[in-house]
Amino acid sequence: MIAALAGGVGGAKLARGLTHLLGGEVSVIVNTGDDFDHFDLRICPDIDTVTYTLAGRANPETGWGQAGESWNFMDQMAALGGEDWFKLGDRDLALHVLRTRLLRQGMRLTEVTQRIAASFGISAALLPMTDDALHTKVRSADGLLDFQEYFVRRRCEVAVQGVVFAGADTARATPEAMAALDRAEAIIICPSNPYLSIDPILAIADLRRRLTGKRVPRVAVSPIIGGQAVKGPAAKMMRELGHTVSSLGVAHKYQGLADALVIDTADAALQPDIEALGLRVMVTNTLMRSAEDSAALAASVLDFAHSLRR
Ligand code: GDP
Ligand code: CA
Repeated sequence: MIAALAGGVGGAKLARGLTHLLGGEVSVIVNTGDDFDHFDLRICPDIDTVTYTLAGRANPETGWGQAGESWNFMDQMAALGGEDWFKLGDRDLALHVLRTRLLRQGMRLTEVTQRIAASFGISAALLPMTDDALHTKVRSADGLLDFQEYFVRRRCEVAVQGVVFAGADTARATPEAMAALDRAEAIIICPSNPYLSIDPILAIADLRRRLTGKRVPRVAVSPIIGGQAVKGPAAKMMRELGHTVSSLGVAHKYQGLADALVIDTADAALQPDIEALGLRVMVTNTLMRSAEDSAALAASVLDFAHSLRR
């Protein structure tokens, strides 16, 4: 059993490779800090990105939603003068309607997510980090912004002063996520945004404790390549938060949480500095442009984790 921690796009791409190799032997613990209600529907952006990616249905251009969507709902909503800043494709909408209905019937988010994943033929265990409410908020000169306000409405343009996880002190990890960590022979921290995707998972005290207490290899994959994020605001946030924008900065961030860091060949020169922090390093191609890239990186990461067995 392997456990992986993931956000949306970057996490999903490595999770796809891990699932390709290991099938049901992988559990993906997914960030829910971005979840919110819109049109009275529960939207779980990272869970949906992982679901669509593992199902081979993701839209690679946008990084959200399904490929080949139609937009009748959204077009009509705009024509009616309704809110249209958050895009919901017709197929995507069906998932949100079903999820919301099942949640209202009393199903836990974990159960709903597994049921939807199964209907897409996904063999990996897709596990929300919590069934409780935990909301990521961004501190800025304009005050505390809800995550979607920052990410979608303002397109990450405002400078980030800090990130807050509202509800983290009461949110509990799910029994399924805790069991996945217990059983894991290795834990992979996917190349997700450390602040917006991994930190919310680690903000849940019992999950963090379980991760720091585990005596199995914990391997992180850097989301920063050549001083830049592949997608999204990770590099911009690192700079705004006063950190070095590189895989060395990522290494600082994961010190004590990961035993090892996988960095891109473009960053090979950083290896000695990262090793000086006490982390083992593997250098390889970490850019995943295709399913083959994902599988190749997943295989290297698993080999590396195996070699670190204590
Ligand atoms: P989000 O929730 O959709 O923003 O997704 P994540 O947090 O999981 O992923 C965003 C991060 O993934 C960004 O920091 C990207 O730099 C990183 N990322 C995306 N694609 C790749 C890739 O192919 N390789 C690596 N190493 N990082 C990637
Ligand atoms: Ca996300």
